[in-house]
Amino acid sequence: MNQEDLQHAEGFRDRISTVTGGGKRKWIYALKPSGFFFKWRNVSLIIYLLVFFGIPFIKYNNEPFVLINVVKGKFIIFGKIFFPQDFFIFAVGMIALIIFIALFTIIYGRLFCGWACPQTVFMELIFRRIEWWIEGSPNQQKALKERAWDGEKMLRKLAKHLIFLLISFLIAHTFLAYILGIDEVIKIIQDPVEAHWSLFIGLMVFTALFYGVFAYVREIVCTTICPYGRLQSVLFDKSTMQIAYDYSRGEPRGKIAKGTERKLGDCIDCMKCVHVCPTGIDIRDGVQMECVGCTACIDACDEVMGKIGFPKKLIRYASEDEIANKIPFHFTGRMKAYSFVLVFLIALMTFLVLKGNSIDTYVKRAQGQLYQEMENNTIGNLYVAKILNKTNRERTIEIRLENRPGEIRFIGDKEKSLKPEIVNEREFFVILDKNSLTQRKTPIELGVYENNKRIQLVKTNFLGLYK
Ligand code: SF4
Ligand code: SF4
Repeated sequence: MNQEDLQHAEGFRDRISTVTGGGKRKWIYALKPSGFFFKWRNVSLIIYLLVFFGIPFIKYNNEPFVLINVVKGKFIIFGKIFFPQDFFIFAVGMIALIIFIALFTIIYGRLFCGWACPQTVFMELIFRRIEWWIEGSPNQQKALKERAWDGEKMLRKLAKHLIFLLISFLIAHTFLAYILGIDEVIKIIQDPVEAHWSLFIGLMVFTALFYGVFAYVREIVCTTICPYGRLQSVLFDKSTMQIAYDYSRGEPRGKIAKGTERKLGDCIDCMKCVHVCPTGIDIRDGVQMECVGCTACIDACDEVMGKIGFPKKLIRYASEDEIANKIPFHFTGRMKAYSFVLVFLIALMTFLVLKGNSIDTYVKRAQGQLYQEMENNTIGNLYVAKILNKTNRERTIEIRLENRPGEIRFIGDKEKSLKPEIVNEREFFVILDKNSLTQRKTPIELGVYENNKRIQLVKTNFLGLYK
């Protein structure tokens, strides 16, 4: 039986793995994995938690290092402040991100799902671990579910759900810290509830949402709700890296018969890879939408192979080409081209984020005025400058005429400093010698200076008589 026959025979693609023939939810009791990948996933979990819970506490120039305040339209990425005026960076960023996700998935499959998606990381490495710790192995969990409510069952269930709620509460507060900043969240916690009713209700709703996801919805997020999971089928091709069962080596599968020479493949049909799978699939059926790339089946099978003395990696990271045609995983020309585009996109985004001016000046001529005859054979144009100070401190700037002789005369206090995080308005005349004008509309360049260093160049026009 080849791989295709196997798939048809099983008919496993007719419905998702966690739904019974009668359309009911099939609860997954996954075995706790152990092995090389589980060990490294635990190491990555520590880094993940440090980054996720630690970033809100990092300050740069007295501002959060990362802030996504959609309500106030203020965003801080790696210490750089962005306002709605920087929308084009956001637009370019979103396009770059979509292309990045598509290219990354074509090459590396569901690597992100298994190692970096918060749903998989929190569910498989934290919440499920607590469940194993309090309720025991899958068989013990099933037994606990089926037994009548007694003191022990109540205690175990209560302890588990209380811890789940507590972690969900913590996650909700951390998300709020990414939106409002950690100082604001600490203030909200210290203030009486009535001072922040709407935030309090929002926090409770999000806590309930996270709790519901991790306690009940679980793998349904990946198999049914997540749009990224749905995209996989159109992005994968034969050279995409994925977690795959080597059917050419494993089939025909069959139990070990002691004392006889084995004429079957290496899969001893122990089902360990199925029992550890948190989405309840059998990876031996081939690539499936429900696989979140958690690597548990690799560890489970490697352990079995080690015990019976067969070579490991019957289940491994491999492409379909590698398994079907024995072509070792390698960077094809297409992958190299995609990786090049990925690197370019990362560089572009880094450049846009780092380059963004901390002062953004927009200059236009004042409405209702053409020009004004002034002293000593000069004429002046009145301009309004809208200067956004994106930093959290007062700034003092100067505007100079760059491309021709002339004078800039401010209305009001020239040195008046710019208030932080708002658009400051300045009015000023540009005054030019009448004789220097050769056309009705003369292009002029204005330099915005801070501490004698030009930080922006603005181009506009000067209206006036010409000879
Ligand atoms: S098939 Fe393997 S990698 Fe995929 S979800 Fe199941 S255990 Fe994880
Ligand atoms: S764990 Fe390995 S040997 Fe056991 S059923 Fe799965 S693929 Fe076959």
